[in-house]
Amino acid sequence: MKEMEEINSILLTSGDTNVVIKATLDSIESLAGLMAKLSIIPNLQIISSQIVTKVIKDEQIIPRLAGVKLVCHYCNGSITGEPIVLDGIHYFCCTSCLRLFSSERGIATPH
Ligand SMILES: [Zn+2]
Repeated sequence: MKEMEEINSILLTSGDTNVVIKATLDSIESLAGLMAKLSIIPNLQIISSQIVTKVIKDEQIIPRLAGVKLVCHYCNGSITGEPIVLDGIHYFCCTSCLRLFSSERGIATPH
């Protein structure tokens, strides 16, 4: 079923229904068509089908801060590129801002 283009994801789950298939279909008729195609697969038993009418949250793990605008904690300038992070909470645009911030706060920096 991997080659069926309407299927977005095949999720293996625990329990009685151990495979959940997520598909994008344009009509009820294509659901019937998909069900017919799936029914011919040996060892596959269709327990139920649900139609997702609304997606409340489709969580995807964003590997980095894509589209998030960070502002330098010291100079308030927007950070372009990789931010310099201090203690995981303070972001700086450059090492000099980090150094100036740190010296004002009396924090020793490795830089
Ligand atoms: Zn700065």
